[in-house]
Parts: sequence; C-alpha cells; structure tokens
Amino acid sequence: MRKKIVAGNWKMNKTFSEADDLINKIIELISDNNFDNVGVVLCPPFVYLELATDMTEDIEIAVAAQNVSNYEFGAYTGEISAPMLKSMDVEYCILGHSERRKYFNEDSKLLAEKVNILLKNDIIPIFCCGELLPEREAGNHFNIVEKQITDALWHLDSVQFKKIVLAYEPVWAIGTGVNATPEQAQEMHAFIRGIISTKYGAEVAENTTILYGGSCNSKNAKELFANPDVDGGLIGGASLKAEEFVKIIESF
Ligand code: PEP
Repeated sequence: MRKKIVAGNWKMNKTFSEADDLINKIIELISDNNFDNVGVVLCPPFVYLELATDMTEDIEIAVAAQNVSNYEFGAYTGEISAPMLKSMDVEYCILGHSERRKYFNEDSKLLAEKVNILLKNDIIPIFCCGELLPEREAGNHFNIVEKQITDALWHLDSVQFKKIVLAYEPVWAIGTGVNATPEQAQEMHAFIRGIISTKYGAEVAENTTILYGGSCNSKNAKELFANPDVDGGLIGGASLKAEEFVKIIESF
C-alpha cells in the first residue's frame, strides 16, 4: 500500500523561537494521537533544519528541506548541498514548487539535475507540478502537468522513480483560499497516475504517493483526502499553526 503523507511547507516564515514553539506544539499534539497510517513531514527553512531533526529524533516526524543546490559541493556561495542535508538527517526535499519556478526561474533541466543529486544522496524529492489559471481555463492543464513531470523525471529508471513523491499543486490554488475541488484533484491525480503507469508500469504507479497542495486546510482536507488517488497533502499556510496542521493530519 502506498504511503500517505501530510507535509507542512513553512516557506520563508517563522523566527527561531517561533519555529521552536511550532515544532514543540506539533510534537505535543501528535504525541497524544496515533498516526500510524500517515507520515508527517515538516519542511522548515534551511536554518531550522537541525533544530527540527533534533527535536523530532524520538517521534515519527520526518524533516524536509524546501530546496537544494544542483551542485554537490564547492565554490557556490550561499548554496546548500544534498550531502549537507543528508548529514543533518533530512529525509525529503521539496522540488519544483511554483514559487521557485516563478521567482527563481527554476526550469525542468535544473529540476532534473536536482532530482538526480537528491536521489544520489538518498533524499526523497517531493516533486511539485501544477498549472496556472489561464492554462486551466484554456483546457491545457493536463498537457502542462504532463510536460512538467516528463521533462524533469522521465530520465529516471523505475528503481529511481519509485523513490519520488509527487505533489499536484495548481498554482491558482496556492495561497489564494481557493482550493481545487475534490473532483478536480481526483481527476488530475488519476491522470498523473495514468501517465506513470504508461511509463513505469501499473505497480510503480499504484505505489507512487501523489499529494495535493493548494489552500488545503482543516475544513477541506477530509473531502480532498477521501479521493482514491489523493494520498495526502502539501500544506502551506495552514501548516504554520500547530492545531490546524494536526487537524489536517487527523483528516485521514
Ligand atoms: C504550498 O505552497 O505548497 C501550498 C500548498 O500553499 P497553501 O497551502 O498556502 O496554498
């Protein structure tokens, strides 16, 4: 059975003491529950990764980075490498988020390099894809998502691809308060699973975790997660409050 995941993408939020407080509260709330059926992942900014991995050492919470360099080491001032992340027990890394595509010009070629470097260092990419509103309105959303996935991931062999987690995040839903309807999410997730099946076979497709992201919160999570091809969520704004984030986890 494929893994269910709820991952909290903090983006560029929280001071050190706020980060400490948020992780503490999440641990406190999660410790009271039994979340055997769902993996919880925290994605704080780089500077709090060590704090997060230290604080979650004794609890089933994984830590993800929000980005990684496409270089492994060397004279790249300001960059953070995959071996550095690995050495801090980081298990996952978000890639291809629409904000990085838009503000940092990340394209499929760069993302393919980052995917390779993460896999080489045994870190699981959470690969984001999703269309802009005009692309959906033009009926182009399936083509766009397919191209994002094929351009950045289709060079992988099936052993490598099995390690990927996908996140469908329609850009028009990110941070807008307008989530995809459960039907829209299910339709796209089923489409993504279908193209994976064509390329890598039914077994790989059945075992690939595909998360939904975009204004997912404690009110709509249950309906979204109830769909057969929606395996959890990548949560932005709603992951910044412990109670709200844990309610989303409880939606399974
Ligand atoms: C995100 O940025 O990954 C995201 C899903 O954001 P939000 O939940 O705030 O829409």
